[in-house]
Amino acid sequence: MRRYSEGGLAMEKPTIGFIGLGKMGRPMSSNLVASGYAVTGYDVVPAAIQALVDAGGRGAGSVAEVAQASDVILTSLPSPVEVEAVYLGEGGVLAHARPGTLAVDFSTVSPQVYRRVAEALRERGIDFLGAPVSGGVERAVDRSLTIMVGGPKAAFERAKPIFEALGQNIFHIGEDVGLGAVVKLTNNYFIGYYTLAVAEALTLAGEVGMDLDRLFEIMKVSYGQSRIYERNYGLFIAKNRYEPGFTTKLLVKDLKLAKAMAEEAGLKLPMTDVLIAQYERAIEAGYGDLDMAAMYRYIQDITKG
Ligand code: NAD
Repeated sequence: MRRYSEGGLAMEKPTIGFIGLGKMGRPMSSNLVASGYAVTGYDVVPAAIQALVDAGGRGAGSVAEVAQASDVILTSLPSPVEVEAVYLGEGGVLAHARPGTLAVDFSTVSPQVYRRVAEALRERGIDFLGAPVSGGVERAVDRSLTIMVGGPKAAFERAKPIFEALGQNIFHIGEDVGLGAVVKLTNNYFIGYYTLAVAEALTLAGEVGMDLDRLFEIMKVSYGQSRIYERNYGLFIAKNRYEPGFTTKLLVKDLKLAKAMAEEAGLKLPMTDVLIAQYERAIEAGYGDLDMAAMYRYIQDITKG
């Protein structure tokens, strides 16, 4: 615990461990440092650790070192594979965190992964929350993320001050640790549709001679408006810059997770495979590490040659 003084009252803040200091984890961890938390971070990429150290945090050499040093462990990792490895694998959180520790994952994974991790941790007296986030890097930077949390209410209350340092709209959805992932995968299903819709609709409008800035202005007050259109056009397409942001690779990962969730529920959704196939072709064509807004460029390539 770190003691600090606020309005003359001595308060205690938990020590935080942050694993996965990438596009989302980096601003989130630095915001926690700026809020007065002692943050120890680890990433497989040394430069990511250095960025946290530059922001006033402490670097660690392994997941185990972070787990041993922290009252609360936070993770923001690419996919289910890394989440299961960091929590349940050799040298992971399960093996090294103290009983009484609280662990929270912000990644986008499946509800099943959260349920498996939570069950294993619970047996060692470690509470776990599945807490995916929405809002992208922009909102991670300005602390206005939406955070969708599944897991025990008491653990949620314990984590709440940390959530409030990272986001603006914080939802405890229910005791089932997988519920945050259900909401997040639903959200990203919309994103998968809308990103392709924006790419195709703007390619069409531009081809028939419409000025895209003017279109954007009108769509903002028409039914075609959407947050994804505003983001993809305003931040990327209008500037013709596609540095991520949220990569196409991560989006297709989420669509596949949504497909698996549908299959487990006994559903075959007709458009899922169509969406996944388009994004996979774009990845094969070299768009995987660009922001998903670059689907606009991909659609231009395949339609105009
Ligand atoms: P990212 O790839 O930039 O960051 C992930 C970080 O985890 C990387 O720095 C990577 O080196 C690190 N990492 C991988 N394996 C590790 C391991 N075993 N131990 C320690 N570190 C490890 O991805 P991101 O864009 O920051 O996204 C993180 C998660 O948040 C993903 O699940 C993504 O789907 C989700 N998400 C991303 C956004 C976005 O806009 N980028 C928005 C909402 C949710």
